[in-house]
Amino acid sequence: MLDLASAFAPDYAGAREKFHAAAAARSLAVERHLHPSARGVTGEELAIDVVMAGNADAAAVLFVSSAMHGVEGFCGSGCQVGLLRDDVVQAALGLCGVALVLVHAVNPYGFSHLRRTNEDNVDLNRNFRDFRAPPPSNDPRATLKGGYKDAAHVARNMELVATMPKAPGLFSTTSDWPRIGRMLSATMRATMSVAPPGA
Ligand SMILES: [Zn+2]
Repeated sequence: MLDLASAFAPDYAGAREKFHAAAAARSLAVERHLHPSARGVTGEELAIDVVMAGNADAAAVLFVSSAMHGVEGFCGSGCQVGLLRDDVVQAALGLCGVALVLVHAVNPYGFSHLRRTNEDNVDLNRNFRDFRAPPPSNDPRATLKGGYKDAAHVARNMELVATMPKAPGLFSTTSDWPRIGRMLSATMRATMSVAPPGA
């Protein structure tokens, strides 16, 4: 029986060690991508380690990565070690024609330092974009749609909305307001000291 708990480690270095040991036990090579500059919380080496199990010509690949959000790597690493150790899984790969690719610690810095972000304070899962294109503007006004150039324009839009019998997100202040008022709690009603327009 698989000892699941022992697949999980209390820190990055320990997790990496378990991953390497599990690969070695299967005689699988580990492709190490060492971090060029950053070190772990105790000065340890940081790396993205890759292992492939199963036939390299397999028609399908099961790709399992861990620690995109560094500190969450404890769980993913344990699962990867478990997949490597599990005889049933390993036998099934061959039977199903599936190769298993495990990428251990996509963000090893965050894993070791218990941070979601990497050494550049970048959240890898929020910066997954094509940097060949220029980044979007950070100016919040850039997201505003045009069309509200002057008061007359706003008035025309409001007239248009008024012609909609049941515009989404709108309610009639004459017919709907009492119903909405009933739906609200007594405390909520008490805070409505000012009557809504049209009431
Ligand atoms: Zn996450």
